[in-house]
Amino acid sequence: QVVTRFAPSPTGFLHIGGARTALFNWLYARRLGGKMLLRIEDTDRERSTDAAITAILDGLKWLGLDWDGEAVHQFQRAARHREVAEQLLAAGRAYYCYATPQELDDMRAKARAEGKPPRYDGRWRDRPASDAPPGVKPVIRLKAPQTGETVLEDLVQGRVAWANENLDDFVLLRSDGTPTYMLAVVVDDHDMDITHIIRGDDHLTNAARQMQIYQALGWDVPRMAHIPLIHGADGAKLSKRHGALGVDAYRAMGYLPAALRNYLVRLGWSHGDQEFFSTDEMIAAFDLAHVGRSPARFDFAKLENMNGHYIRTTSDAALTDLLIDTLPHLPENSAFPQQFDTAMRQKLLAAMPGLKERAKTLIELRDGAQFLFAQRPLPLDAAASGILDASSRQHLAELLPRLTALVAWSPAATEEVVRKYAEEKHLKLGQVAQPLRAALTGRATSPGIFDVFSVLGRDESLGRLADQIR
Ligand code: GLU
Repeated sequence: QVVTRFAPSPTGFLHIGGARTALFNWLYARRLGGKMLLRIEDTDRERSTDAAITAILDGLKWLGLDWDGEAVHQFQRAARHREVAEQLLAAGRAYYCYATPQELDDMRAKARAEGKPPRYDGRWRDRPASDAPPGVKPVIRLKAPQTGETVLEDLVQGRVAWANENLDDFVLLRSDGTPTYMLAVVVDDHDMDITHIIRGDDHLTNAARQMQIYQALGWDVPRMAHIPLIHGADGAKLSKRHGALGVDAYRAMGYLPAALRNYLVRLGWSHGDQEFFSTDEMIAAFDLAHVGRSPARFDFAKLENMNGHYIRTTSDAALTDLLIDTLPHLPENSAFPQQFDTAMRQKLLAAMPGLKERAKTLIELRDGAQFLFAQRPLPLDAAASGILDASSRQHLAELLPRLTALVAWSPAATEEVVRKYAEEKHLKLGQVAQPLRAALTGRATSPGIFDVFSVLGRDESLGRLADQIR
């Protein structure tokens, strides 16, 4: 059975790259009827926070990525990590190292002077414990192979080989008895029966060291897939400016979770030229063979278009509820209600078919719906005030009695009145519709004007027109 895991370090929000890693692990497991486990890598006690854990869990839930079983907290397993370090020590595959900070500094300085990467020189590798200086607490280092190669058959990167002479005897257990990341990851992945490690390729060199630990322990190495990191639209490493933000920031920008998920799955993975995937389609189609080897580029415009597509294709009722539920997460708009009763929801729902055609984000959707709940006299934005010049107001003044005279208030009825008026005056429909729109919504863009009449209702519509005539 396939078992994947998502293993975030709770030192910040769930960023977009982490979300994609989680998605790929989730899809791979779901596709193969396996499990995805969650491990919180909270061994960095200084930088790990509960707030970050909450943000990560919230982000996963918002994206609809569920995990199997209880989340594992790595720090709680420190005793087990220590036990494995001691097991390696007993088997002669690891050793105590008493090098002082000064000695390590000297080694680093020497490497720097030679233009080489810093490297521990193995000075305690074969020294007897009787040489141990008094009072120095040792670290435990892996007795890594010094010749030959460590070879990874990566499911994305292909064959990757490291000359063992370039890898040093790295630390497994610190002098205070705490495990290093390298050791903890291996022990946890083994104990959690992980079969596939799918993660960013910034962990590729860690993979070599981790494989050496597996080999020293005689454990099977899980299959690994190192996915290229996400880059910005300009090809540079992803920064905040490019969209390296927390998933919560995407919610605050008004993206739908389904749209973001669809966008993320296409970021580094392809299935022919198919762009849109329902959840089931994604699960059915996902594979590691079609994860590309070069970094994907994050493109806000594409995400926004995809979001617009999801807004248009989500049912009116679901979208209405999603908008209402998302309001507390969007940047404040004090002109829009935060609390919705049944009548207000009904009004929003009735306007939704027209509103959703125009919005690419939930913010645009909300702001487009603002007119529904605005109080008379309506505030006009700059474009609307521009439209309502003297001649426009004159049209409104002439239309008002004709509309007031209507018996039935329906889109067809208001349309007939307005069209007839435009014909009489030899005006294009837009020349009449724009002043009506400005007066009824306070904006220059809105759903179709006859639908606006209809959702606002007779009294409110006539009142808003009257407000602009005086
Ligand atoms: N905790 C690591 C990170 O957040 C991931 C470790 C792993 O996937 O092996 O980058």
